[in-house]
Amino acid sequence: MNREYFFSFGKYAYVTGPKPEGCTLCLIRDRDPAVVDLSVYRDGLFIAAVNLYPYNPGHLLVFPVRHITDLRELTLQEERRLTGLTRYLLDISDRVVKPVGYNLGYNMGHPAGASIDHLHLHIIPRFPNESGIADLIAGKRVLIEEPPETARRLRERIAQEPFQEPFSSSSS
Ligand SMILES: [Zn+2]
Repeated sequence: MNREYFFSFGKYAYVTGPKPEGCTLCLIRDRDPAVVDLSVYRDGLFIAAVNLYPYNPGHLLVFPVRHITDLRELTLQEERRLTGLTRYLLDISDRVVKPVGYNLGYNMGHPAGASIDHLHLHIIPRFPNESGIADLIAGKRVLIEEPPETARRLRERIAQEPFQEPFSSSSS
């Protein structure tokens, strides 16, 4: 079952105003009212949030609570949690967003395309017959869901099926 969604840049006027000062991900972490909180998961080490500017519906950012800028700064504990959390979020996304595949990756540094310094993992669901950016700009109808609605559906599923650390019996 595919529902058809309409995406309009105009609706996002409320997020395209002046950019708030400071690191966007730290502001999300701190629940600062200057940013739209699309977080769907939080623990002591990581936060997962729907990207406000998704490449595709269900585009998630997973980032450490600590403001670090390089993958190599992750502690072993963080690395283990991130791996478990990534597997979990893929399972949740499979059920909620129902893509046919994913792109996962990091951009580190501005030349690599990172617009936010704070280290973050992109989880980008892929769908058959995706609409291109040209269709978006032309204002044509595309199969996409508005980010707050995606966040709502993911939160609902996460509440039903909470994260459990897969690699250890002791939780931290
Ligand atoms: Zn930050």
